[in-house]
Amino acid sequence: MSARIIDGKATAAKVQEEVRKEAAELIARTGVKPHLSVILVGDDPASQVYVRNKERACAQLGMSGEVVRMPATSTQQAVESEIDRLNADRRVHGILLQLPVPKGMDEDALIERIWPDKDVDGLHPLNAGRLMLGLPGPVPCTPAGCVRLLIEYGIPTRGKKAVIVGRSNIVGKPMALLLARKGEGGDCTVTIAHSRTPDLPAVIREADIVVAAIGQPEMIRGEAIKPGATVIDVGISRVDDPAAKNGYRLAGDVHFASAVEVAGAITPVPGGVGPMTIAMLMRNTLGQYRKALNVPPGSQANHA
Ligand code: NDP
Repeated sequence: MSARIIDGKATAAKVQEEVRKEAAELIARTGVKPHLSVILVGDDPASQVYVRNKERACAQLGMSGEVVRMPATSTQQAVESEIDRLNADRRVHGILLQLPVPKGMDEDALIERIWPDKDVDGLHPLNAGRLMLGLPGPVPCTPAGCVRLLIEYGIPTRGKKAVIVGRSNIVGKPMALLLARKGEGGDCTVTIAHSRTPDLPAVIREADIVVAAIGQPEMIRGEAIKPGATVIDVGISRVDDPAAKNGYRLAGDVHFASAVEVAGAITPVPGGVGPMTIAMLMRNTLGQYRKALNVPPGSQANHA
């Protein structure tokens, strides 16, 4: 039996349409466009692609977006000054620091420098705390997108066993909080696995929902998946492929060909979680814009 394919591209288009409509209404009411500033330090090729996609998404949704490009040789102080400038600029509603920043920079200090009400990644300690306490605020985009996929595809979560592989601040940890929280898309019993987890396949095999956020291409094979389980593959790695036009292809953390035969539903890479991340970023930007303009929440809250 072959798993149902969870189409992140189609779901992201739906979320983006919601955001576009809502933004249009608010722009008509206030005369102000939501504005996202993305700071890119250095010239990492994958990051270049990600920031271009974010800029393009802003334009498609009638929002304003800019990429602030800084050389890899920038000092910590220079990046902090740029963040301060954007914090003070009333036209800017969202600030995103594209990660990773070049080696040697204090990433945590930079994230903390962004004003929490302009943080669209949900990574500022105040917003991370809000998520932990179940208070409204921007939720990290990738895990928010994963939950939205589960809801859109009617995948039951209440009382289900979820195993998240990876414990990063940006994916694994917030994913665990979201799946464990009360209500729709939550109420799971959650296990967080990582590089020190012994017999990982046995742990994964227990799961009704597997979220892979590891960064190890095709590490999780079908044999480790419980028949009928839902597999959300967050991983994106470039692997050499001489047959491909650019000499590489994108691979997830799950070995798709073997997993698709066992799982009940699965996200592909590309076309799964990736497009959802951008869609949720647009939603978080709209949420911070609404907050800045003191527009009461409408049909969509700014968090997933
Ligand atoms: P990190 O490198 O920050 O975290 C990886 C996690 O995986 C760590 O907790 C690590 O454990 C764990 N891990 C590494 N190797 C193993 C192993 N052999 N067995 C078990 N656990 C392991 O990565 P991110 O969370 O930032 O990203 C993960 C992946 O998701 C990457 O491929 C990234 O490109 C992708 N990604 C995709 C996004 C999207 O939009 N689709 C957005 C963000 C990320 P430990 O803590 O012990 O080191």
